[in-house]
Amino acid sequence: MSTTYLIKNVSVVGGTPTDLLLRDGVIADPADAPSDAETVDATGLVALPGLVDLHTHLREPGREDAETVETGTHAAAMGGFTAVHAMANTEPVADTAGVVEQVWRLGREAGYCDVFPVGAVTVGLQGERLAELGAMADSAARVRVFSDDGKCVSDAVLMRRALEYVKAFDGVVAQHAQEPRLTENAQMNEGELSGRLGLAGWPAVAEEAIIARDVLLAEHVGSRLHVCHVSTAGSVELIRWAKGKAAKDGTWDVTAEACPHHLLLTDALAETYDPIYKVNPPLRTAADAEALRAGLADGTIDIVATDHAPHPHEDKDCEWAAAAFGMLGLETALSVVQQTMVDTGLLDWAGVAERMSYAPARIGRISEQHGRPLEVGEPANVVLYDPAASRTVDPAESASLSRNTPYRGMELPGRVVATFLRGRATVLDGKLQ
Ligand SMILES: [Zn+2]
Repeated sequence: MSTTYLIKNVSVVGGTPTDLLLRDGVIADPADAPSDAETVDATGLVALPGLVDLHTHLREPGREDAETVETGTHAAAMGGFTAVHAMANTEPVADTAGVVEQVWRLGREAGYCDVFPVGAVTVGLQGERLAELGAMADSAARVRVFSDDGKCVSDAVLMRRALEYVKAFDGVVAQHAQEPRLTENAQMNEGELSGRLGLAGWPAVAEEAIIARDVLLAEHVGSRLHVCHVSTAGSVELIRWAKGKAAKDGTWDVTAEACPHHLLLTDALAETYDPIYKVNPPLRTAADAEALRAGLADGTIDIVATDHAPHPHEDKDCEWAAAAFGMLGLETALSVVQQTMVDTGLLDWAGVAERMSYAPARIGRISEQHGRPLEVGEPANVVLYDPAASRTVDPAESASLSRNTPYRGMELPGRVVATFLRGRATVLDGKLQ
């Protein structure tokens, strides 16, 4: 028998405090609470539907020194997530039914968070020929999101074919928008600062040119495009324009994500020359961050995705140009969204639930189980969050195997108190169970 939880006096998605009963994996009527139910006093806490991350790097198979499916899903649970999409840039690459089924199975065995593997668009992420998209879609992992993330599908013909192919099974191509020739050896946002620091610049147009091309391709073939980690104000403008066009047409669709680090941090941090701030796409200007926040608030950017990218210290504790791109994100995402979007009045908790649970579940086509409203009869995927708490981020406390958080030493608002996956507590009293 699984434990039955009676959560008392909780603000469900920011509403008036009420009780929630989690029994046999689903949300039940609190009036039916059995006398032996475990009571959780949730006064002051907000209940949100279990968070869904469309963009996580779990590193297994191949880089188990950076993260494993088990440690990555521990970090996910600690961050309030009940589902994550695991990116395909593993070793071997997740470009066959065999590899995606392996990752999916490892997630089930660990049991902390549902893992939905992303399939590679091209064989070995080489950008030369399409991977077995249909076989991955038909596999036990039921892949619906395809991405060469880490690399851009820069060949327009391959991108067109991928967009055409995924229509057969209602899939989506998630593009890492980075024009390769414009970003050769690029290290940080191109601007006055990159010139002064002597670090090769990464121009905004390298992202925007690919997004412009891809929305036109998605329209041309009538397919679904998702834009990963939007980082520039110009990209937000392009997506706003494309969404207007797609809404009128109704035969194609474009969705987009922003990462917490791009909402909060800026390229000024590169002045430290500390590669903890090195990420792909790079941290941009304060004006870009402001445009991302506005785009997320008005729905131009559909979702927040973490781009959780663990790296062992030897890949980060070196000079800037030699360091790996990427930063941790799962355990801090909700706090950063609170700071940048909720505490600023740009979003309420219903808006956060939409952008961190409902919408990513819809885009990934996992809405039968995740991103559901917290209503009787629905799966008991729930996070309890204390927005009044605050903490100083200590990398040593991370559940991830890696320590590369750009928020170390920073005070962030909020704390995940509990996470429930189908009614089982994966986190309770802020501790992994
Ligand atoms: Zn990427």
